Amino acid sequence: MAKIRIYQLAKELGMHNDELLKLLDEMGVAYKSHASTLEDSTAETVKELIGEQRVAEAARRAEEARKAIPHRPPVVVIMGHVDHGKTSLLDYLRKSRIAEKEAGGITQHVGAFEVKTPGGTVVFIDTPGHEAFTTIRARGAKVADIAVIVIAASEGVMPQTKEAIAHAQAAGAKIIFAANKIDLPNADINKVYTDLMQLGIVPVAYGGDYEVIPISARTGQGIDSLLETILLTAELEDLRADPKAEAQGVILEARVDKQAGVLASLLVQQGTLHVGDYVVAGEHWGKLKAMSDSEGTRRSEAGPGSAVQVLGFSELPVAGDTFNWVPDQIAAKEITEERIAERKSLETRPNDGGRARNLADLM
Ligand code: GDP
Ligand code: MG
Repeated sequence: MAKIRIYQLAKELGMHNDELLKLLDEMGVAYKSHASTLEDSTAETVKELIGEQRVAEAARRAEEARKAIPHRPPVVVIMGHVDHGKTSLLDYLRKSRIAEKEAGGITQHVGAFEVKTPGGTVVFIDTPGHEAFTTIRARGAKVADIAVIVIAASEGVMPQTKEAIAHAQAAGAKIIFAANKIDLPNADINKVYTDLMQLGIVPVAYGGDYEVIPISARTGQGIDSLLETILLTAELEDLRADPKAEAQGVILEARVDKQAGVLASLLVQQGTLHVGDYVVAGEHWGKLKAMSDSEGTRRSEAGPGSAVQVLGFSELPVAGDTFNWVPDQIAAKEITEERIAERKSLETRPNDGGRARNLADLM
């Protein structure tokens, strides 16, 4: 094999001759000019070095690009055994938010609401029950970054507590435990600890990783500390979303209002939605005619972490489906028609294979 000359190697690597000569100097390689030949082993070393430099440079650029994307608020779902205080905790959080704003309590249910604290904003999903959370997960979308699992300290871990833990773990959400009803005389935080330990979940108090925050959804005790813990957890997760990306998110709820028509609640996860935008969600599309937030305020745009109610879908989108921005009606129609056709072709297959494949695709 002919030995490679310096200018040939430089060309091969897309470098200037001077750059390569400088590198050879650094490596202590002797040469007369850029026309000198290099030992095979030297050429190999140069290639490896340049390759490593380029990988490092690409990684540095990728990290820079990631850091340029702004932080977004954490999205939290509250789960737990029946009667352990999920609704009460959401009510308390919603109320504290209104008191802060002195807004007189005009709120609108849009499937999620924001709580602003001095340490940052937290978005709480408040779709009825936590079905939405489980359907959304079953459909493959991730909505909650953090699951707050409420355990009544007067009762300890119950069957649905375990289910909630399993769901949260499967969804890849960070878990924070709220030991609720701490105001009751029979509240026993130690029982909560030992119950959790039996599941292999070691609380911070026992040297483990799981935060267990004593709270009372009735008196409000400990709720500040719960919010702080949520924000601290979110900080470690380094959650970011690009407001300039194409808007994307999840349908939280959808219903038909006799007067207004189809109302859908969306959580924007990335990008910014604008009134007038077209979106597709599953087999349905809409042109956003109007948007409003949980304070009932009309919005012309909604960025990452915003939950808004929108008007403009012609048919009911499915809760749990992902929505995506599309440029226009032509795209919206073509994409949804394709999806409908695809589903129909799977449904008309003789055996049940199509359906199973479809489900498997979603998981
Ligand atoms: P959910 O089924 O998990 O939504 O539970 P709820 O929020 O409906 O609460 C069940 C019951 O427990 C209600 O009667 C609440 O008033 C009560 N409750 C909830 N949180 C507390 C609390 O912190 N302290 C006390 N004493 N009662 C609570
Ligand atoms: Mg409830």
